[in-house]
Parts: sequence; C-alpha cells; structure tokens
Amino acid sequence: MQNVSENRVLIYIFGGSGDLAHRKLYPALFNLYRKNHIKHNFAVIGTARRDWSDDYYRSTILKSLEELPGSFNQKNSFTKHFYYQAHDVTDSKHYIALDNLGIELEKKYETQGNRIFYMAMAPKFFATIAEHLKSQNLVSEKGYNRIVIEKPFGRDFASAKELNDAISDTFSEDQIYRIDHYLGKEMVLGLLPLRFSNPFFEQVWNRDFIDNIQINLNEELGVEDRAGYYETAGALRDMVQNHIMQILALTTLGAPEKMSAEALRDQKQKLFAGLQVYKPEEVSKYFVRGQYGASDIPDHEPAYRDEPNVAPNSTIETFVAGEVHIDNDQWRGVPIFIRTGKRLPEKNSRIDVVFKPRQNPIFSQPDEPNILTIEIEPEEGVALQFNGKKIGQTTDPARYQLTYQHSKAEIAQVLDAYERLIYDVILGDHTNFSHWLELEKTWKFVDAIRQYWDNNAPTDFPNYKSGTAGPAASDSLLQRSNRQWIYQPEPRTTR
Ligand code: NAD
Repeated sequence: MQNVSENRVLIYIFGGSGDLAHRKLYPALFNLYRKNHIKHNFAVIGTARRDWSDDYYRSTILKSLEELPGSFNQKNSFTKHFYYQAHDVTDSKHYIALDNLGIELEKKYETQGNRIFYMAMAPKFFATIAEHLKSQNLVSEKGYNRIVIEKPFGRDFASAKELNDAISDTFSEDQIYRIDHYLGKEMVLGLLPLRFSNPFFEQVWNRDFIDNIQINLNEELGVEDRAGYYETAGALRDMVQNHIMQILALTTLGAPEKMSAEALRDQKQKLFAGLQVYKPEEVSKYFVRGQYGASDIPDHEPAYRDEPNVAPNSTIETFVAGEVHIDNDQWRGVPIFIRTGKRLPEKNSRIDVVFKPRQNPIFSQPDEPNILTIEIEPEEGVALQFNGKKIGQTTDPARYQLTYQHSKAEIAQVLDAYERLIYDVILGDHTNFSHWLELEKTWKFVDAIRQYWDNNAPTDFPNYKSGTAGPAASDSLLQRSNRQWIYQPEPRTTR
C-alpha cells in the first residue's frame, strides 16, 4: 500500500465553475481527502471564464459538499487547497498566468511537478487546451503530466481521430485518461473476477453454452437541461459507443494473461477485432431506434419534442435497442442484445446471460434456461436462476434462484465511480480507462448505424410513451428468434 502522504499533485480543472466539476469532481476529491488519499500535498486550480475570487470559488465548492459526511472544519480546510483563475481557453496569454500560479502552488504544496489537467468543459475546447498546454510550457518537466478527458470523445470516428491526433501532439497515450464512468462502477469492476475466478462460469462462457447476452442501461430521467448536447448526439452516441461497448467488452473478452492495463487492452482489442460492423442494408434488421412521446399520466412527462431547446420535429433517438455480433471462436452466432434509453420505467443497469436450454434426456420437459443476472445499479449484485424440483411428493420441475447483493452499508463505504477513477489517475493506473484503439473500433461500429439512420429519417417518432420500456420493435428484435428480454419492467404509472 502506497504511503498516502506521497500522493503529491497539482490538478488543473478546466471548466471549474461547471456542473460536472461541482456535481462529481469536487465531491469525489473531498472523499479522497476524507479517506486520506490526498492530504497536505495537493492543490487544485479551477479555471473558467467568469471572474471569481478564490473565496467565492471555495464557497461554491463548500456548497457542492453539503450532502457529504464530514465536519464543516474538514470541508473548509479541504477548500483551502483550491484556487481560481479566470481564463479564456482560446487566449494564449491566459496560460502564462495559469503556469505562474501553478509554479507558486507547486512550491507551497511541494507537489514535485506532478500535474493533472482535467478537461471538464465542452469537447470542442479539448484540442486547443492541449495545444496551449504545450506551446505555453504548462507541461511539467519535473514530475508526471496526465490529461483527463470527459466524454464525448468525438462525435464520429473522423472527429474522434482529429481530437486524438491533436491531443497526441502534446500527450502520449500513456498520459491520456479517457473517462468512462461506468468503468468505475463496482459491479463492472467485478465482472472479471466473477468470470475468471469461478470455474463454473468460466468453463461455460462461450457459444456452446450461452444462448444470448442482454445488456440494459436504462434511464428514468428525460433529457433534462442537456438538449443542446443531446440533440447532436442521441442515445447511440451518448450511451452505445462508450458505456455499452465497454461493458460488452468486459462481459465477452478472452482471459487476460494477468490483471494489468496492458493485458486487458490486448484482450479488448482482440475482442473488438471481431465486432461485426453492419452494412447499410443490415442496420434496420439489427438496430431499432425510438423517441419518447408524452406520458399517459395527464400533465406529467412531456414528449421529447416538447422539452426545452429540442426541435419540434427532432429526429434524434432517445432509445436504442440492437443485436450485436462478435465473429470469433468464442462467440460466433451468439446475439448480444443491447438496450438503452431515456424515460424508461426505472433507472437500472444490468447484464443478463442466458444459457442454452437443453432437451433433457432424463426428464420429460426441456430444461428452462439458466440465467445469470449481474445488477450494476441501483442494486449491486448477482442472481442465478436454475432448475430444481418442486417441494413435495412430485418430480415436477421448479425454478430456484441464488442471489447475492452488496449491502447498502457496504456500498456506502466504497469509492464511487468518479472517486475511484480520479484516484486511478493520481496513481497512474490505466486499467479502467478506454484506449484509443478501442474508440477507433467502437466509433466505426456506431458510425455505420448513424449514417444509415441519418440518411433514412424515422417516420414513426415519437414511438414510445414516456414511462414505458421503449417501442414495440425492440421486443420484435428478440421475438423473431423466439427470444425475449429477460428484464421486462412494468410501465410507470405514478408520478
Ligand atoms: P458546463 O456547461 O456546466 O460547464 C462548462 C465549463 O466550461 C464552465 O465552467 C464554463 O465557464 C467553462 N467554459 C466555457 N467556455 C469557456 C472558455 N472559452 N474558456 C474558459 N472556460 C470556458 O458543462 P458540464 O456539464 O460541466 O460538462 C463539462 C464536460 O463534461 C463536457 O464535456 C460534458 O460532455 C462532460 N460530461 C458532463 C457530465 C455532467 O454530468 N455534467 C457527465 C458526463 C460528461
């Protein structure tokens, strides 16, 4: 275990006055502070356009910590490590002021030249910031330099590559940390131990035994106040290219040689090499899109097209379901169904692994399939459905279920996704971040669908009601091969 006092770092947060910084980054940093992972030798410089004083900046941080455990004095001492510098990211001169403040704080907090640059602002600025960090000499020559990039990383392969090329002029791949916060979630981190330390899963984790896999990332909320971004993204870019593809990879990749960032990357790349990119004529067979209309509950949830800042004739999808195929020896012929959307009955993320039922040679009925469910959120646990006998003087079959769930008390103790990922950046551990080569593959997969959809506008939007599980076509996607979604939530009927 590393001596906690050795975590010396100066963190620049670009977009320090923004929503992400206040809702996620400051609480995450405070929790790391509370747990002594950062203590005396750290400082944070928040930058944004507004002209704030350090005191005002600190007061906004204090406010963002209101709900967290910890005394006022502890929170106050934490905010003393924060400094504010008004800054326009497009103005070269402003970087000189940022560097000067950095040098001063490095002396004061003895951070040994270690610098993290956190991009918590609109992606259109990432490249220009990276260029200026180099040209204005903010990249430290003494300690480490790491850049943290939020999603979205590009809006298609071409723009992602352009962005990557621009950042790569200043930072090498091992200095770049692309955040996908699903990779910091406890049960996603638990996927590899579950798969590779249990022979009774590992041995059957292939096309001989698994019939299909289902990945659900469902949201209850609508677009909220993010229409500006969402209207240019849609569910496909917002959820599939990154979170769903990363979860899919961890669910299906081959065994890494050891638990290291490099070994995991190798396996992800091998896996994505088999990812079937659809031809235009295949897209409507394998992918379904949807957009929510108003809820059935009077005056309750409006249609997407009636949300603030959404075009009244918007053709952006708020729902995607699809069938993904991996062409390799382990998975050939096994459909991986994915589903994600806004305004669904409830927020939850889960993976269902459906095993092949057998025509049982001993008993008269065919077996019911074994189903392994991995709940990512809001519950965190695992359930296994399998077959047994009804109790009593009968040989009739019965469905049994084994369940394991982390307790709420345990969950409260562990690092949350942002806390864990920021800590990984401080420790220099790349394991839970996406590599450029993974983005290259997943963007090409998504681009093929996006291009077909952009060239063929939907004619049936809105095609699901707010509070229901998406359009009927999402069920047909599975029904045509006599399958069904394992997770079938009831429509939301209350406000
Ligand atoms: P925001 O609009 O709340 O904050 C943007 C910040 O950038 C503000 O501090 C603003 O002052 C600053 N800014 C804008 N133009 C500037 C300029 N020219 N010079 C200097 N500063 C400037 O946005 P946000 O919601 O915090 O999102 C930030 C990033 O994080 C985006 O890339 C977003 O896609 C990503 N993200 C956000 C969330 C979230 O929950 N908010 C979740 C996932 C990813």
